[in-house]
Amino acid sequence: MDPNHAILFEPVQIGPKTLRNRFYQVPHCSGFGTEKPWTQAAHRGMKAEGGWGAVCTEYAPFTPDTDEAPLIAARFWDRDDMRALRLMTDAAHRHGALAGLELHHAGNHAENNVTRYPTLAPSQTASDLHAHVVAKAMDRADIERIQRDWVEAAKRARDCGFDIVYAYGAHSYLLMQFLSPFYNRRSDGYGGSFRNRARFWLETLERGKEAVGDDCAIATRIAVEGLGPSGIRLDEALEFVALADPYVDLWDVNVGSISLWSHDSGTSRYFEEGYQLEWTGRVREATGKPIVGVARLTSPDLMAGIIRSGAWDLIGAARPSIADPFLPQKVAEGRTEEIRECTGSNVCIMKVDGFGHLGCVQNPTAGEEHRRGWHPERVEPATNASTPILVVGAGPAGLECAVTLGRRGYEMVHLVEAEPELGGKLRWIRRLPTLGDWGRVVDHRAVMLGKLGNVAVVTGKRLSADDVLDYGAATVVLATGSRWSGEGLQANTHEPIAGADPSLPHVMTPEQVAVLGKRPMGRRVAVYDAEGYFTGPGIAQLLAREGFEVALVTALAVVSPISDLTVEGPLLRQALHDAGVRMTTGVTITGIDPWRVIGETEFGDPWSLEVDGVVLVTQQVSDDALYRELAEDADALAKAGITRLVRIGDAVAPRMVSEAVFEGHRAAREIELADPMAVRPFDRERRVPAVELEA
Ligand code: ADP
Repeated sequence: MDPNHAILFEPVQIGPKTLRNRFYQVPHCSGFGTEKPWTQAAHRGMKAEGGWGAVCTEYAPFTPDTDEAPLIAARFWDRDDMRALRLMTDAAHRHGALAGLELHHAGNHAENNVTRYPTLAPSQTASDLHAHVVAKAMDRADIERIQRDWVEAAKRARDCGFDIVYAYGAHSYLLMQFLSPFYNRRSDGYGGSFRNRARFWLETLERGKEAVGDDCAIATRIAVEGLGPSGIRLDEALEFVALADPYVDLWDVNVGSISLWSHDSGTSRYFEEGYQLEWTGRVREATGKPIVGVARLTSPDLMAGIIRSGAWDLIGAARPSIADPFLPQKVAEGRTEEIRECTGSNVCIMKVDGFGHLGCVQNPTAGEEHRRGWHPERVEPATNASTPILVVGAGPAGLECAVTLGRRGYEMVHLVEAEPELGGKLRWIRRLPTLGDWGRVVDHRAVMLGKLGNVAVVTGKRLSADDVLDYGAATVVLATGSRWSGEGLQANTHEPIAGADPSLPHVMTPEQVAVLGKRPMGRRVAVYDAEGYFTGPGIAQLLAREGFEVALVTALAVVSPISDLTVEGPLLRQALHDAGVRMTTGVTITGIDPWRVIGETEFGDPWSLEVDGVVLVTQQVSDDALYRELAEDADALAKAGITRLVRIGDAVAPRMVSEAVFEGHRAAREIELADPMAVRPFDRERRVPAVELEA
């Protein structure tokens, strides 16, 4: 271990419990909650195995009248839920970590669409997260009942094996709603003055401490600077910390609110590593108790520096712990270059809140620990290690596949790439404005390839079908990727755009702009985005920076709706606005002339714009010609001794980078199966009736 990092491995006392080190997985959503107890246990248990001193659940509603369905929570109503989460506390303890439960009430933000109880809040306000939700103003009986429920849940948490019990007040949920005058308009003893607004939170903590404080550490999570109306300012937060300090064993601090979650779960596009310290670094002024903070930290040097500065006692992580569950162990063993660094792209949030099951662009095993049985650091040894394997294409899919085949012990793996540089489309994506850290997907794999003596990397060589047949490989994996359609194929029409021909000077693909440096003849350019993620805006920003007058035209109802799933949408649109990019939504472009683009609005009106060129970000198409040529000639394959031909990644279907990495990983794990790419069901963890089925 680097002696500089030794400080990260000191034990820390929190109330009655001792953390074995300073690595702390703060509560984060997963899509598992109590719905998938085995996945929950396996996911948190993996981080415990990787060395984290504590692992926490996501938020845990302790009463049915706080329901944010379809978001999945660690519901903690009763003994039934205790049984589910007991798997998780056991898994944490088995690997020497403490387990934390984030007891939660969403207050104003609970839509209660499924449980159908009225929403509760300090006052009758409309939620700034869901404007149609108006709460019942809590009366004294509600206050008393919620506090009692919290205390009962804290006791259940203790009995379930949790070491750390939270009163969750961050992200502008119920406790913060009492503290913040934005929500709290009461005139009784729970509203008005700062002391009165603090009362609900203080009483809750005091009761919890009294009930379980001898057995569990009491943590509270607070956004110490709301950065907007729906929170409090730092000076009030420090005052609150000082007031509540006697009842708290661990201060879990962050910034923002649920409607400004973009500023808490800040992505690498808009926030530097360590960005929250500006505010959370000041909490020490108000407390001597242990503090844990977050800020997408992946650098052990920075982590050690923060501890040494005295600002925090623990290094909190959600996203970096998903990207690398073994981060602490790698630091302990001096293998810091092997850390799978979080890219800060918030694909995890998209996966969890958008699609209901955690995934990660860097760590293909995240969320697959139980249902596919994947371990991030261990792979099955190759069953026939002497099989020579050729992987064609070193984009995310090919890179991950070659690394994993190498880790499995295949003695002869060749990774051949046409371009002089590794990375596939990430070669140019990482050079678009703000997207640099996405390149970590490539950098990590380049480091691992450098350590694997059994994987040869050949760059600058484009293989033809004959080259592949002559290569001498028995297994061939094609990861040849995809490119943007130059003819303007798009979702709304499934047809080429009239006049779209990228050999013309005024028609461009993203690759032509980003890689070849092609530019329009004049200053006015339209970027036509029919896809809705990062490429259209990225190209628009690139051209705007160079002084072009950029019109970003999208067929969709908002600019980059996919970025809303990564909580980047508002920041992205603001950045485009600030860069002078004019945005037009709801227009489908159907024709291109040398001086204009023409189309139709969502309301059926004709539309046109005079421009000197257009960049087509409409739809990607697979580069599968090599696969087709090889697959169609079974005799040639047999003659060449190729017994297995597998196609992965965007060459199969163009997808997000996370899916290319996942598929590269899956192919490498399953390469010996009769059909490695076959679709197989996995455990859904449902409770099903014991019905006899006919054979
Ligand atoms: P994915 O996301 O599936 O990994 P990418 O499009 O990012 O796909 O990367 C595919 C890579 O494959 C590119 O770097 C491309 O240069 C490379 N490639 C495509 N065809 C060949 C070929 N015939 N020989 C070698 N490399 C190729």
